[in-house]
Amino acid sequence: MTGYAYTEHDLPEREHAISAELEQREWEEDETRVLPDPKPTKRYRASQKEWAHMRRVFSNSRCLVCAGEWSELHHILPRDGGGPYPGGDDVVVNLAPLCAPCHRKVEARDPEARATLRANLNDAHKWYLTYRLGHAAPAWLDRHLPEIAA
Ligand SMILES: [Zn+2]
Repeated sequence: MTGYAYTEHDLPEREHAISAELEQREWEEDETRVLPDPKPTKRYRASQKEWAHMRRVFSNSRCLVCAGEWSELHHILPRDGGGPYPGGDDVVVNLAPLCAPCHRKVEARDPEARATLRANLNDAHKWYLTYRLGHAAPAWLDRHLPEIAA
């Protein structure tokens, strides 16, 4: 016996509470969830000044695919996110310096270019992906920058 008698009035609120609890549990158990928050977060957009600064930060870098001179900054986690993923920020740890031809290849999902970019990501890039995607980061990498070229 619970000592509490449900009335017709109580039921909708109780059902609502149960469904919210189930939703929370489903989210906690969902292996593909995007951490740390299931709500879509706004991506960070850099100002022109910040873009100029980030370009200077990469001034001694080479194209991460062909090691030639870079001219464009590629968003590793794309700006539009896509699917369940949050949009990638305009931050130095989400940017890969690429030359224009390699950038086109990566955007066109050229397997060799994507695998080379994957191999040349640095720890900061990987930390950023983990920060944004949590334990979904390895799965995201395997899907968007697969290691196998051949
Ligand atoms: Zn290149």
